Amino acid sequence: MRYDLTAMTRRAKNPKRKTITIRDIRPPSTFAADLYRQAYKPVIDIWTEALPGIVTEYARTVVMTQDSPADIEAQMLEAERQFSILALTITPTIERWALRVESWQRGKWRGAVLSATTVDIGTMIGPSDVRQTLEAAINYNVALVKDVSAEVRRRITTTIYDGLRGNKPAREVAKELRAVVELSKARSIRIASDQLAKITSALADERRREAGLMIWQWLHSGKKNYREEHLARNGFYYSDNPKDVGRVIDGKKVKPAPEDRVGQKPFCGCRSQGVLVFD
Ligand SMILES: [Zn+2]
Repeated sequence: MRYDLTAMTRRAKNPKRKTITIRDIRPPSTFAADLYRQAYKPVIDIWTEALPGIVTEYARTVVMTQDSPADIEAQMLEAERQFSILALTITPTIERWALRVESWQRGKWRGAVLSATTVDIGTMIGPSDVRQTLEAAINYNVALVKDVSAEVRRRITTTIYDGLRGNKPAREVAKELRAVVELSKARSIRIASDQLAKITSALADERRREAGLMIWQWLHSGKKNYREEHLARNGFYYSDNPKDVGRVIDGKKVKPAPEDRVGQKPFCGCRSQGVLVFD
């Protein structure tokens, strides 16, 4: 705990209620779209642009029934070379994105705390408090971008070799290759949205604990595809402090924090709300 928000609130406004729940902070999907556009799309573009050259070499190789498709390999290597140049800028690109998300989240948290408690925490929190969380998220996202490129490359290679083995016409292989890239594009868009949920929920947890708030409320995502067990947690109180477990607050029995935290399972999208408790 860096500061005791509950004690500060008690001094600032002598709250009449026994609890105050901090309002929900919902990340806008534009952040996910930005992450896709800035970090993943350039990778998809490299492989999209490599396809015509690969297909041309495939067409030549398949009529000559060569054993070793050396010219196709050369096209693949050229795309990989372009990716390795791009790879040099992935870390700073994702870093800038993560810092923007952090700054947005911090501003929203400050506003939510202010309206709930009248306490302004603006000067008490900064980006350096969450440096470790940001670094972990940045490193993880850099690895994901590299994995997307490696996966496209692997699938293109498989498609080419299957085509050569089956003597498939170039037209058919071209279609399959476009589908390969489309699949990776769809996967990247899903990853970007999931990564936004993960970084914002990790930041929210950290900001809440920094304020000394151990008790929080589970807020279900309301997504079309959801986990039954997450819907069942909606509105219940949880605590990061085992000593709180079993206490009855607002008529609800405080439960131990579940192992899968909000937003951490793939495409979860659930969120948590900090709860101030005045005893
Ligand atoms: Zn969920």
